[in-house]
Amino acid sequence: MIKRSSPLILLIFLGIGILVSCNQKLAPTVPTATTQTITTVNSKEAQEKPYLILISLDGFRWDYVEKYNPPNLTAFINDGVKASSLIPSYPSKTFPNHYTIATGLYPDHHGILGNVFYSYKNQKNYNIRDRETAEDGSFYGGSPIWLEANKAHMVTASYFFAGTEADIQGITPTYYYKYDGKVKNETRITQAIEWLKLPAKKRPHLITMYFSTMDNKGHRYGPSNKAEIKKGLFELDKNLGRLFKGIAATGLPVNVIIVSDHGMADQTTDSLIPLDRIENDSLFTSINNGSIVNIHPIENTAIDTLFHMLKLQENHFKVYKTADTPGFEITPTRKDWGAIQLIPEKGYYFTSEKVIATRIESNIITSGVHGFETDFTDMHGIFYAKGPAFKNGLEVPSVKNIHIYPLMCKVLGLEIPTGIDGNLNALERVLHRN
Ligand code: AMP
Ligand code: ZN
Ligand code: ZN
Repeated sequence: MIKRSSPLILLIFLGIGILVSCNQKLAPTVPTATTQTITTVNSKEAQEKPYLILISLDGFRWDYVEKYNPPNLTAFINDGVKASSLIPSYPSKTFPNHYTIATGLYPDHHGILGNVFYSYKNQKNYNIRDRETAEDGSFYGGSPIWLEANKAHMVTASYFFAGTEADIQGITPTYYYKYDGKVKNETRITQAIEWLKLPAKKRPHLITMYFSTMDNKGHRYGPSNKAEIKKGLFELDKNLGRLFKGIAATGLPVNVIIVSDHGMADQTTDSLIPLDRIENDSLFTSINNGSIVNIHPIENTAIDTLFHMLKLQENHFKVYKTADTPGFEITPTRKDWGAIQLIPEKGYYFTSEKVIATRIESNIITSGVHGFETDFTDMHGIFYAKGPAFKNGLEVPSVKNIHIYPLMCKVLGLEIPTGIDGNLNALERVLHRN
């Protein structure tokens, strides 16, 4: 229900705007009069609850810390808990996996099927680069953790995280920023520390953060480029060190969960597949996420006929009817996947002739990609956590990323919603008993 705006609420909104925009180039987005159910003041009970910072390090592969020993992350893990790896959900792309972490649902259940996909309900392509669709809450199913915290009258904040800019069920975090990859990591960290210094009533109990340093390095140079991966990692680690110090200085009971959405695999230019050669506008439309191409037959195209026609063109890729596609954890049910999938063979990836030509011209031999099936361990990411809720020095086996959500609910003292794919049992033993 949308309540009428009162002068007091408007004053609170204005006050928050002034507080969080201090020394900021980028103006934070504060709730508008149409989203009045957003919590702007922590309830008494909420103020008694601990704090949780969820940090996403995009494309951070499971083995980077062991390989390069970045000092701050290593110390964080030694004082906290880790999983041997975090198993992404298929397809191992950025938006489906961030939103799985946020909701505890597989992509087929939350609806964000790729960084780009066709939505029959909205009758258009969703694309993370199209601000209109990325910020349109109607694409996002489930109840992300910031909505659950909001429901429990907790103030929430986000310095980027897939979905936080969208008006999901009319709700965004109390304080949030629209995505701008150019904002320095230092700026994001300074703001998070400032949020923790707000008075108790306005201080967010949940903060989400996002850093793309390792995804950028991995794509550009490939994960086997030791010098570049180490350079990115140590720069990120230095920034995280400042965040950890800032958190410690507050003296607050702050829990920190660090995750990544997926890992990264090397990709050679000579193993790229030009999708243009397969496309046929008169028979089907295609949505390319590189590791999976969704095929939507146009009206009057018989699926079986198209399937057999595409099968004849198999060349370093395989053609599957959607329900038979091997990577899915659960049988996909959404029409938005399309009827048929093209899946590259190991080591191959779909792109366009233009991209291939540019790479050859620029003499790029190796880069990095992700999106593949999750039994390919290069796709695995990280789960590290530290804080008063967590045990010290414990390593648990690889765990699926659907299980982070119920863990976050538990840490924040929220009820775990029913009907999710994740289960608290998977990670409960990383928590102190209380
Ligand atoms: P990919 O590696 O293609 O799966 O996607 C990674 C890219 O997603 C990053 O390089 C970011 O530029 C982009 N990205 C991350 N978060 C957001 C966001 N909230 N809105 C739009 N783009 C984002
Ligand atoms: Zn990613
Ligand atoms: Zn990526």
